[in-house]
Amino acid sequence: MTATPESKTQSKWLAAELKHDSGVYNKHEVVMVRGLGATVWDENGRSYIDCVAGYGVANIGHSHPDVVKAIQEQAGRLMVMPQSVPNDKRAEFLQELVGILPAGLDRVFLCNSGTEAMEAAKKFAITGTGRKRFVSMKRGFSGRSLGALALTWEPKYREPFGDAVDNKNVDFVTYGNIEELRGAVTEETAAVILEPVQGEGGVRPATMEFIQEARRITREKGALLILDEIQTGFCRTGKMFATEHFGVTPDGMTLAKAMAGGVPIGAFVMTGEVADRMPAGGHGTTFGGNPLSMAAGLAAIRAMKREGMAEQAREKGAYFMERLRAIQSPKIREVRGMGLMIGVELKEKSAPYITALEHDEGVMALQATPLVVRFLPPITITREQIDQVVDAFARVLSGVNPRAERQAELAAQAEEKQSE
Ligand SMILES: *Cc1c(COP(=O)(O)O)cnc(C)c1O
Repeated sequence: MTATPESKTQSKWLAAELKHDSGVYNKHEVVMVRGLGATVWDENGRSYIDCVAGYGVANIGHSHPDVVKAIQEQAGRLMVMPQSVPNDKRAEFLQELVGILPAGLDRVFLCNSGTEAMEAAKKFAITGTGRKRFVSMKRGFSGRSLGALALTWEPKYREPFGDAVDNKNVDFVTYGNIEELRGAVTEETAAVILEPVQGEGGVRPATMEFIQEARRITREKGALLILDEIQTGFCRTGKMFATEHFGVTPDGMTLAKAMAGGVPIGAFVMTGEVADRMPAGGHGTTFGGNPLSMAAGLAAIRAMKREGMAEQAREKGAYFMERLRAIQSPKIREVRGMGLMIGVELKEKSAPYITALEHDEGVMALQATPLVVRFLPPITITREQIDQVVDAFARVLSGVNPRAERQAELAAQAEEKQSE
């Protein structure tokens, strides 16, 4: 929900953000101050079920106790040490991460965000193949730096920057169209880059054939297959990584979002063959692999394994989608997704319903393309909370507004009192 000038007066924190923020974000009207599991609280103490989870970061829940403890301990021990200097926590994290990756992906470039992981993927693909063309997907999202943006399809993200976004080396193909993909991959292609489930593009899972053919075509042409698992990774889709659903091993994967339980982190993971062709000094970053995020990541991955988060996402996701599909509303076109990465495509713009969910029902959800309502809850969300979200969604779709009704009721009671 977009904050208006009048709402500026509601909260000093909101006012300060509106005044000093760069202005690239449409601000919600709430100021969130705390989170635990799948619940967040605003500055007035109102609770919300959080199906945004920081855009799919808080997979193991907000403020997971293991991550909190790991950060506290590491903060008092060592927070920064560049990657040129080995560190115990980093070594331990690398072993833990490689232990959950598909076999063959055992080399890691550590960074601080998804966008940086995409930048690394491009550079390693170029040095790894000696080629510089990329094939990316229509409706795909790869991040917002100039290099990552070149792989991002949505023209409105690219157009304000004109030809500073150099995507003359990028060919976009229709997601799911094997013939188009085959036509686009040539002896000049360094890599095909795609999301196993398109997130920003409207929550669209790839078909089995598309991913398997992408693997076959890239192998035939000597190009790399790089899966963007920034949103789908770390149990979100019901497996540790979505690629496991498709039975393929890519040459590289980009990771970020949920990897460190809420702390900024990113990685490009790849085969030794790809990594070995990058010259020493060919890439780097100051904060990448810092001991603080390593400690958080280590605790987060161990919690995912111990608590069976992939299994939980699979079961809860199936239940969530089944309940969403049971909503009788002429406004719903389709419910789709994988695990707890769920999209509901409406026959009209989704934004007003997302606003109503937050404002009237205390449920935070996310947009994905103008027509889709996206639910990316923490995997720790309870069935009871899923029921509450689905019931709330059904109410906003049918135009019922319990908050307004409650306010009207209170106003009527107050009037009655006065007239007594
Ligand atoms: C979020 C996201 C990115 C960008 O990650 P940032 O951490 O926001 O830079 C790239 N690709 C996909 C699929 C994403 O969901």
